[in-house]
Amino acid sequence: MDFALSDEETQVRDWVRTFVRKEIAPLEPEVLRRERAHLPGLAVDELRELQLKARESGFWGVQTPEEYGGMGLGAVLTALIEAELGRSFVPFRFGGHADNILYYANDEQRERYLLPTIAGERRSCFAISEPGAGSDARAIRATARRDGDDWVINGEKTFITGGNEADFAMVFARTDEGVTCFLADRADGWRSEPIDTMGEWGPAALVFEDVRVPGANVLGEVGKGFDLAMKWIGRGRYLLPARALGACERLVEMAMEHARTRVTFGAPIADRQAIQWMIADSAVEIEALRWLVLHAAWLVDRGADSRHAQSMAKLYGGVKANEIVDRVLQIHGGMGYTRELPVERWYRELRLLRIYEGTDEIQRRTIARNLLKGHARVSGTLG
Ligand SMILES: Cc1cc2nc3c(=O)[nH]c(=O)nc-3n(C[C@H](O)[C@H](O)[C@H](O)COP(=O)(O)OP(=O)(O)OC[C@H]3O[C@@H](n4cnc5c(N)ncnc54)[C@H](O)[C@@H]3O)c2cc1C
Repeated sequence: MDFALSDEETQVRDWVRTFVRKEIAPLEPEVLRRERAHLPGLAVDELRELQLKARESGFWGVQTPEEYGGMGLGAVLTALIEAELGRSFVPFRFGGHADNILYYANDEQRERYLLPTIAGERRSCFAISEPGAGSDARAIRATARRDGDDWVINGEKTFITGGNEADFAMVFARTDEGVTCFLADRADGWRSEPIDTMGEWGPAALVFEDVRVPGANVLGEVGKGFDLAMKWIGRGRYLLPARALGACERLVEMAMEHARTRVTFGAPIADRQAIQWMIADSAVEIEALRWLVLHAAWLVDRGADSRHAQSMAKLYGGVKANEIVDRVLQIHGGMGYTRELPVERWYRELRLLRIYEGTDEIQRRTIARNLLKGHARVSGTLG
């Protein structure tokens, strides 16, 4: 058993750590100021500029295959990168990325959708959730009916990340053959409405009223859309808790710094057992989360069935990150509750981790089913 990072893993991790320290972290005060003014943390051109700067050092398309100009990195490396990015709340991500299911594009779709998305010239969104279908995604009611060579889509989608900015949607609708995924350009006639949330990442409601898309815009096969949706959702569940891992590390470091310097009743609060226990519990949980995330990623890299491990990492990450940020806010006292510090921002943002891409309850359902049906063992992958 080897818990050490390889030279490549150490180098990549250290490069990203330095990039975050030098290029991302200095933007934090401005991002906080903008949030207080209800503005996006990073403007599109600012994000682009940072992405191009990273590209100069080869950081572009972290998981994008090399034949598409990306780095084609594996899951462990990507998890290490996400954890480093998670240490800052600035909403940065590396450029050169396209959703995994866009690689199911045919030759023509590749030119029109996949390649421009990787290049950052087009923006997509993944639209399956509806007002009546979230956890139970099979309950979607949006329809697409054939009309000559075209399809006509009707229905409403909700909580679609990037739906306000996207110029095309990967939208899922019922057809006679089953659920089908369509590439629908905004120019085809769908519209979006922002949904105000407690976090910065405001999703959108999408409305499709007789939106006509060409027959050539079916992604994958007619009636096989649900398989694509599951591939999208399962593309990297370990990445969400990886990002939370970095946030938790940073938050606990902030809490320790505050605890060392904040004096009450003649002594730093770091001297109080009540505070020490919160720090100790958080550190243990961060360590456990680190290994759940890296183990899930390791299984992905080996091509093993990682779904159970990914659900465990996602569930544990969501629950523990929320407990940790709550403790960190508590340690900061009244200051933790203000918008002067990013703690309350993380408090709101990390809450989402327990809801999207499979709620806590849905992860528990998956984990319990796997165990009870004998697909996984309580003794884990070691046997
Ligand atoms: C900010 C944000 C971004 C999102 N981005 C996207 C996106 O890009 N694309 C997209 O398609 N969707 C997106 N979603 C939707 C997200 O995937 C759903 O919100 C999520 O799956 C939960 O569905 P729901 O909100 O309908 O809750 P429901 O499914 O109605 O669940 C309500 C509650 O009941 C629980 N529950 C449901 N079923 C069971 C069960 N069988 N057993 C026990 N408990 C159960 C849930 O865990 C939850 O606590 C996003 C959501 C948010 C908030």
